[in-house]
Amino acid sequence: MKRIYEDMAYGDRPIQERYWPSTIDTPPPEYPELDGELRCDFAIIGGGYTGLSAALTLAAEGADVVLLDANVPGWGASGRNGGLVSVGSAKMDDEDIVRKYGASDAQVFFDAERASVDLVEQYLTEFELDVDRHSKGYTFVAHKPGAVPAVKEYGEEYTKRYGLPFEFVPKEAMAAHGLNSPDFHGAVHLPIGFALNPMKFIFGLYRAAHQRGVRIFSKSPVTKIEQTGGYVLHTSKGRVRAKKLIVGTNGYSSDDMPGAMSARYLPVQSNILVSRPLTEDEIQAQGWWSRQMLVDSRTLLHYFRLLPDNRMLLGLRGSVRVTEQNMSATRAIARADFDRMFPEWRHVETPYFWSGLICMTRNLVPFAGELLGMEGAFAAFGYHGGGVTMANYAGALIADMALGKSRRPHPDLMKRAPRRFELGLFRRASLPPAFAWYKLRDAM
Ligand SMILES: Cc1cc2nc3c(=O)[nH]c(=O)nc-3n(C[C@H](O)[C@H](O)[C@H](O)COP(=O)(O)OP(=O)(O)OC[C@H]3O[C@@H](n4cnc5c(N)ncnc54)[C@H](O)[C@@H]3O)c2cc1C
Repeated sequence: MKRIYEDMAYGDRPIQERYWPSTIDTPPPEYPELDGELRCDFAIIGGGYTGLSAALTLAAEGADVVLLDANVPGWGASGRNGGLVSVGSAKMDDEDIVRKYGASDAQVFFDAERASVDLVEQYLTEFELDVDRHSKGYTFVAHKPGAVPAVKEYGEEYTKRYGLPFEFVPKEAMAAHGLNSPDFHGAVHLPIGFALNPMKFIFGLYRAAHQRGVRIFSKSPVTKIEQTGGYVLHTSKGRVRAKKLIVGTNGYSSDDMPGAMSARYLPVQSNILVSRPLTEDEIQAQGWWSRQMLVDSRTLLHYFRLLPDNRMLLGLRGSVRVTEQNMSATRAIARADFDRMFPEWRHVETPYFWSGLICMTRNLVPFAGELLGMEGAFAAFGYHGGGVTMANYAGALIADMALGKSRRPHPDLMKRAPRRFELGLFRRASLPPAFAWYKLRDAM
């Protein structure tokens, strides 16, 4: 496989100290390894939100579906994320999206983003999933006084986009909202979204797909894709012959699986630190009792939330290599950020730290469409760290395409194959200078 990170990124080490498994009190879903030859109408590579949502959409139409994942359920980003369900799957401002793609397609994109939150809600209701939900919409906080106007402007943009009101909270009112931190200088509450336990969510989707007749295989990496009119997928012990193919491998993709995706995606590391449960006294001492999920205004952003069991979860971006040394260095940065944001919790232990790969595109918008030169093969990826929501939606979009249906907002900007990153297999080299610049800009 042609993958662009160190081997460690594709193994279990980055999730060895992950918090989510400790929240699961029933045995995780298990599926066999593929052994032998199968035929089906639709084959899916990847069992994260993208692949499972595609599988569920196809199964709802009575389709014959096989899903193959290289690992066990919940191994990928879908079982290791921060659980923030919100709009924001592009890495571009609304104005730039309108300028680049035109007002009417931009509106379809904003509608799709809104519909993606609704789809997650629909899955929770339809499959009766208990996912430790909290947070009324999400909160965007200014990380420096100079960022306050931009945060307010974002609220205004949001109102224009969705016709929904935002609430501005000035610095002096933040403590009354349970958001007391020296690191933040104002906030806007935005009414769309909520937070969930990502592992409970992905396990629930697996069980729902299995119950609906999807044939699921774990520990079955696809090592070769043959185009034969339909598609033949090879694993070490088996083969799947399918009429149509869906690829949902996102940050864990490989440049040759299939070659049509080569250099059109860029995995980027995201990291999460989780504290021990805080006592009521500690919560009061810091003055941070809000159950809102938050994102700050840095380009190398932080995402965080006080979990239902009173642990603080803090996510951050900005590391480039996946090595032991880099994991320790990033953990130290995360801890320093935690101490700066919540000085009254400097003595609080943070026993959990893990990382994983999100995925960007060169166009800075997600892709959900047919793969170039591969009729009947569809892929969705590049949610820019907003995939709890958009991966589910994009998976449903490409399943619709595979079925020949069009029944939800699907902007043209998501159907176009993303441009290739100029540095090809070496594209990760573009990250250190970009991160250094973002760090400088965030600090200025
Ligand atoms: C630390 C972290 C925090 C995040 N926090 C948030 C958040 O709070 N909110 C949010 O919206 N998003 C967040 N994200 C992003 C979100 O988790 C992802 O966008 C989303 O889970 C992507 O889902 P997916 O199904 O496309 O990919 P994944 O869940 O990564 O699944 C891809 C699957 O493909 C499989 N695979 C790869 N190659 C092969 C092959 N050759 N054969 C078979 N299987 C293969 C892998 O085993 C993997 O299971 C976060 C991500 C990380 C890493």
